[in-house]
Amino acid sequence: MIALVNDKIAFISHPKASLHRMPFPKPHLESFENPLRYQMAERYLEQSDVLSEMIRVKAPRATLKDLLLVHSPYLVDTVEMMSEIGSGQLGESAYASPDLIRAVLLTVGGSMKGVDMILAGDAKHAFVLMRPPGHHASTSNAMGLCYFNNIAIATKHALQDETIHRVSIIDFDDHHGNGTSEIFYTNPNVQYISFHEYDFENFGLGHYDELGYGEGKGTNINIPLLETSPDISYESAISRIMIPLVKSFKPDLILVSAGYDAHYADPVGNMDIDSRTYWRFGREIDKLVDTTNAKGSVWVLEGGYNPFTIGPSIRASLEGLAGNTQPILEDQIDREVNKLIVDANDEIIAKVLETIKPFLKN
Ligand SMILES: [Zn+2]
Repeated sequence: MIALVNDKIAFISHPKASLHRMPFPKPHLESFENPLRYQMAERYLEQSDVLSEMIRVKAPRATLKDLLLVHSPYLVDTVEMMSEIGSGQLGESAYASPDLIRAVLLTVGGSMKGVDMILAGDAKHAFVLMRPPGHHASTSNAMGLCYFNNIAIATKHALQDETIHRVSIIDFDDHHGNGTSEIFYTNPNVQYISFHEYDFENFGLGHYDELGYGEGKGTNINIPLLETSPDISYESAISRIMIPLVKSFKPDLILVSAGYDAHYADPVGNMDIDSRTYWRFGREIDKLVDTTNAKGSVWVLEGGYNPFTIGPSIRASLEGLAGNTQPILEDQIDREVNKLIVDANDEIIAKVLETIKPFLKN
């Protein structure tokens, strides 16, 4: 009997993920990672009807033990303790609130649930609309608005399943996911591909010669694009780097650190893309699941701090995943493209490929 292909998309959220709020008034960076971005995104998606075909799932709560799949007991204990106190600094741009531990356990739980649904064959893709984000959190340190690394915990959780040997993580957040990169830097079974704005302030990491270490060499791929990079540069990096490298890695599962702060209207990132590129990521990752025979993809929200553009951006990704044509959305305005930036990015893309090539296994 031929099994029916399940093309469903699971949409995982939880109203309590909106509770945590850092104690900063505007215009501090910390004020942008706030409940409003979650609420506005969910409301936009509900009104646009894109969720009607999807399976709505309420995120379950993870356990403190689940956090130890990736993180040190020190970090787990400290976040728990400071949540009880209800305030205090945990790391650079990472502060406690009374709702922090509840929000992070639900976000980790939602991310693991996404993996479970794909492995059970309940859905082809899962989108986890939860917060706070995770890709800056390293084994022992909270930082950059992140406390626990949701995508890394979901990856380790997936690798515990006997059918999952290799995982590709695609990270298109504006910033380099230094935490995720560090956690898997020596792991040959996890491929990490990061599109990010080259930014010397971003923990000094994300260069294209950081390739992984030991057995993991060749599995860490950084694509540092220049400030104000347009859609065309992302398209070029997607087709020249992401697609061939994921195909050659042959993952059993694709995880996506879905950050929407490279949008031109984002108050934190400095890139110049719109929802057309976020549709492209959805479309290409759906096709990669098919061509690599992966079980599916799990998307976990990272950045994206303009409450008016995060909704259309996520909608575009979901339409791409669903195989729909690119929707015309309100944020898609014509913007002047700086050819010098495009040419320089093409050179960077060529250098990324040249640097990684000797270390590719296939
Ligand atoms: Zn970011």
